[in-house]
Amino acid sequence: MAFDYDLFVIGGGSGGVRAARMAAATGASVGLAEDSRMGGTCVIRGCVPKKLMVFASGYGETPADARAYGWDIPDGVFDWQPFRTRLNTELDRLEGVYRQLLSTSGVTIHDARATLDDAHAVRLSTGEVVTARHILVATGGRPERPDSPWAHLGIVSDDIFQFDRLPASILIVGGGYIACEFACILHGLGVRVTQFYRGAQILRGFDDEARGLVSEAMRARGIDLHLGTDILDMRPAADRPDRIGMGAPEQEPAPALASGGKGPVWVKGSNGHEAMFDTVLFATGRAPNSRGLGLEAAGVTLGRGGTIAVDAYSQTSVPSIYAVGDVTGRVNLTPVAIREAAAFVETVFGGTPTPVDHSLIPSAVFTQPELGTVGLSEEAARAQEPIEVYCTSFRPMQTAFAGRPDRVLMKLVVSQASRKVLGCHIVAPGAGEMIQLAGIAIRMGATKEDFDRTVAVHPTMSEELVTMRAPVRKA
Ligand code: NDP
Repeated sequence: MAFDYDLFVIGGGSGGVRAARMAAATGASVGLAEDSRMGGTCVIRGCVPKKLMVFASGYGETPADARAYGWDIPDGVFDWQPFRTRLNTELDRLEGVYRQLLSTSGVTIHDARATLDDAHAVRLSTGEVVTARHILVATGGRPERPDSPWAHLGIVSDDIFQFDRLPASILIVGGGYIACEFACILHGLGVRVTQFYRGAQILRGFDDEARGLVSEAMRARGIDLHLGTDILDMRPAADRPDRIGMGAPEQEPAPALASGGKGPVWVKGSNGHEAMFDTVLFATGRAPNSRGLGLEAAGVTLGRGGTIAVDAYSQTSVPSIYAVGDVTGRVNLTPVAIREAAAFVETVFGGTPTPVDHSLIPSAVFTQPELGTVGLSEEAARAQEPIEVYCTSFRPMQTAFAGRPDRVLMKLVVSQASRKVLGCHIVAPGAGEMIQLAGIAIRMGATKEDFDRTVAVHPTMSEELVTMRAPVRKA
């Protein structure tokens, strides 16, 4: 049977674009449909704009630090409007780059929503039906609101980039990557930030010592973090109870679009904390974009939470249909989606079946300070085998000189039997950059003695990774 395309990709995010370009480079005819902006979550409403906001918020401390170093400069004031204009211009530019990369690779772009008709056919919202030998679903995910009666009163992470002006105050619900990153970003931009997390400590799943230091640093900077706390009641400001029980309400919030059009709200926490907020951000997780795609009708099996079930080669239960990225819910990170896309192309168009290796993935949480991590947490490693822990926490030279109390953490978790470094955890400015490099050594199976044999770069923070001589504990 003759098909319109060798490959049709549904979704123009990191995974879909990479697969389309790489497949086209093998000589395959490729079509791609995207119903929103090209670039997907990472480029348009995730990693990229978030990181630019991390940079923006970091400058708040610069004048005070610079004065300590002898510069005569006054404190500045952050203005959201010019930043947002510049941010939007940059995102438009990047979207253009993505489109151009696809076009110059020979990929046919369909600006349309695509749904599956059957194992080899895709129906576009333009009315067109196209056929393909292989179909790749790379539709990503979306923020998910909690299942509660007040969920509609708050915003989600997508809405932050659309703020007309910054809110004066915000309540952030959740303790994962997105909640913690935005708590730090918005605090750094001058917003009064309160955070409710239902568990005992933020960043569940990360190394306990590392998450403890991040949480301590967030509080020390002025983020009002409430652990073991959920929302008990939440109402539009106009419907708030006349008298607020616990102390005086916070300053009356300005009515504005800073709330994403939802208006200010009154919130009562399960710990009794009551306050008014300009807006509430639900950072309570993300869900796969698998609904309404015709997947079930085409015979594609769905897994937990609506994710698309795939094997090690990203193949679904329908042999001609593959899926990569967040819609499969394996490890929801952009570089992982890109790896899955590359392995898919190698398998299907390169003639080499290539499974995706999801072990030892380095990642960073862009809080202030950053958390960089690769491998096992101390807790996970201890459950697996006898370990040694090498750890140091100190005030780094640059900020200590400026009189700031910030501490950093450098930690290695080592196997007693093989001496291999099983995990590395860094809490420090630039930890994301450092962990990328530590990740190479650990991926190669470096032992503690390999680290020790490496000469230190002095004076740096990361030199501690190769100078820690005695374990702080064995377990
Ligand atoms: P996460 O799953 O990381 O965190 C969700 C948080 O919300 C958890 O703290 C969870 O609590 C809490 N939560 C869930 N449901 C409720 C509820 N009903 N009420 C109250 N709290 C609730 O999701 P994120 O949205 O933060 O991030 C999604 C994914 O995006 C991440 O897994 C990550 O892979 C990716 N990401 C990566 C980034 C990076 O690499 N720097 C940055 C941003 C996102 P509990 O812990 O108790 O379950």
